[in-house]
Amino acid sequence: MKIGVLALQGDFIEHISTLKELGVEAIPVRKPDELKDLDGLIFPGGESTTITNLMCSSSLFKPLKELAQAGLPVMGTCAGTVLMAKKISNFNMATLALMDIEVRRNAFGRQVASFETELLIPALGDKPFPAIFIRAPLILSTGSGVEILARLDSGTIVAARQGSKLAITFHPELGSDLRLHSYFLEIVAGYQLTGEEGTQRGNKKTSRKSTLYQSIKDQS
Ligand code: GLN
Repeated sequence: MKIGVLALQGDFIEHISTLKELGVEAIPVRKPDELKDLDGLIFPGGESTTITNLMCSSSLFKPLKELAQAGLPVMGTCAGTVLMAKKISNFNMATLALMDIEVRRNAFGRQVASFETELLIPALGDKPFPAIFIRAPLILSTGSGVEILARLDSGTIVAARQGSKLAITFHPELGSDLRLHSYFLEIVAGYQLTGEEGTQRGNKKTSRKSTLYQSIKDQS
């Protein structure tokens, strides 16, 4: 299994070391040809405006969007969630629009208002997850087909899944609890097995992925 981590800005190094800790091959992605043969992708935390500008200037915006839309599993953390949202309520910026969610950027205030909390994420079991929020977005609303994975006590949505896409508004890569990355790797393994975002069985992945990558290369 090979996971790419978008490495234009932000805390991609922490994601790469978490994946390595889980025994998975992880590579930094900075240019389109590094998207070849990936089984999954992670968008790290950082500054979503900067990452978006760099995705455009490094010709990654379109191929990333196409790969993800074709089903490639993607996990975004914090700024990564902003990139994946269909809509940002308080900022005008193009996003990859990979999930039917609306987010509010910097929803908890400035850097000094960062906080850590024990979060219940039923999909991970009973043990709470130590969640670190740094100038985090929140998920204001979700469309049909989006599963809400976690809420703060206030009811605010902070983690959601839609098929093979996972949006986390906090930073699992900064702590030592590996369960959210493992959860994402399970989604990737399911996709590898079926070639589909859902639960259908089959073995379409290899040909589907290589055809897709080839068509992206041909366009660029
Ligand atoms: N506030 C940042 C943004 O919206 C996200 C912060 C983070 O990733 N820690 O781009």
